[in-house]
Amino acid sequence: MEILTNPYDLQARAKEWRCSGLRTALVPTMGYFHEGHLTLMDHGRKNADRLMVSLFVNPTQFGPGEDLDTYPRNAERDEALAREHGVDVLFTPTRDSMYAPDHDTWVEVPSLAAGLCGVSRPTFFRGVATVVTKLLILAMPDIAMFGEKDYQQLTLIKRMVRDLMLPTEIVGMPIVREADGLALSSRNAYLTETERAQAPQLYKGLAAARDRVAAGERDITVIRQYVESYYAKNLPLGELDYLEFVDPESLVPMTRADGPCRVAVALRLGKARLIDNLRIDPPSGRESEK
Ligand code: AMP
Repeated sequence: MEILTNPYDLQARAKEWRCSGLRTALVPTMGYFHEGHLTLMDHGRKNADRLMVSLFVNPTQFGPGEDLDTYPRNAERDEALAREHGVDVLFTPTRDSMYAPDHDTWVEVPSLAAGLCGVSRPTFFRGVATVVTKLLILAMPDIAMFGEKDYQQLTLIKRMVRDLMLPTEIVGMPIVREADGLALSSRNAYLTETERAQAPQLYKGLAAARDRVAAGERDITVIRQYVESYYAKNLPLGELDYLEFVDPESLVPMTRADGPCRVAVALRLGKARLIDNLRIDPPSGRESEK
């Protein structure tokens, strides 16, 4: 495995592979690898000849007062895991090599960035869209894997790649969870033992919403109230940021679960801000309608 820190070295290596007719894959990450990251890498390994992984805690996606300086890091362990999973290039640039002091070019997808996480993190998606564009231009991969864990991010990146006609297929990968349902996240490392014990309730609340729909309920106000009281009872240490039922592609909030829908949640739990989401498919057929 080659470790590259200079963006132009990544660009040269990727070009060399492309020109030799090799199929390439990229997995952008912020490191502190867990099984979620590793399944993205494994998919790339299986579906391409060369696998690139970027590890960059991107400063432009952190707002003032957020955890840029304390974001969990473990370079040695990440390097070993990347080797084990057959990564060909691990790209670990410095902040300065990715952003010139007078960097002033931004990529924005305002309609998809405004809601959900965009409400409490107004500059987050501009930072994500910009760094992902830069990474895609450097690596120019055939495929790039992103997790459904960050569903709004995945939706926005798909739209951005389509709009900018970038020559990469964006592959969305299912959420990897702990046995108790908690979605894996580098930020789970912030949780105390007591908080960790309550954290799986975040997913259970979403599953309860799905169950309400399966049982015939379609009114989202009713379902939301049900899940909010579920959290108040079962996740008392948590402070709800949002709980939204949105159209899976436009991310526009829905009032009735008459068609496919994505329920997304963000909740503060101690030092962590946890996010999760679940696809809800109302059963079709008249008898299940209410
Ligand atoms: P991060 O390092 O947190 O920026 O994540 C890098 C990539 O891994 C993103 O595309 C995430 O959506 C994805 N990812 C993070 N956690 C999970 C998970 N639990 N399951 C699947 N993908 C994940």
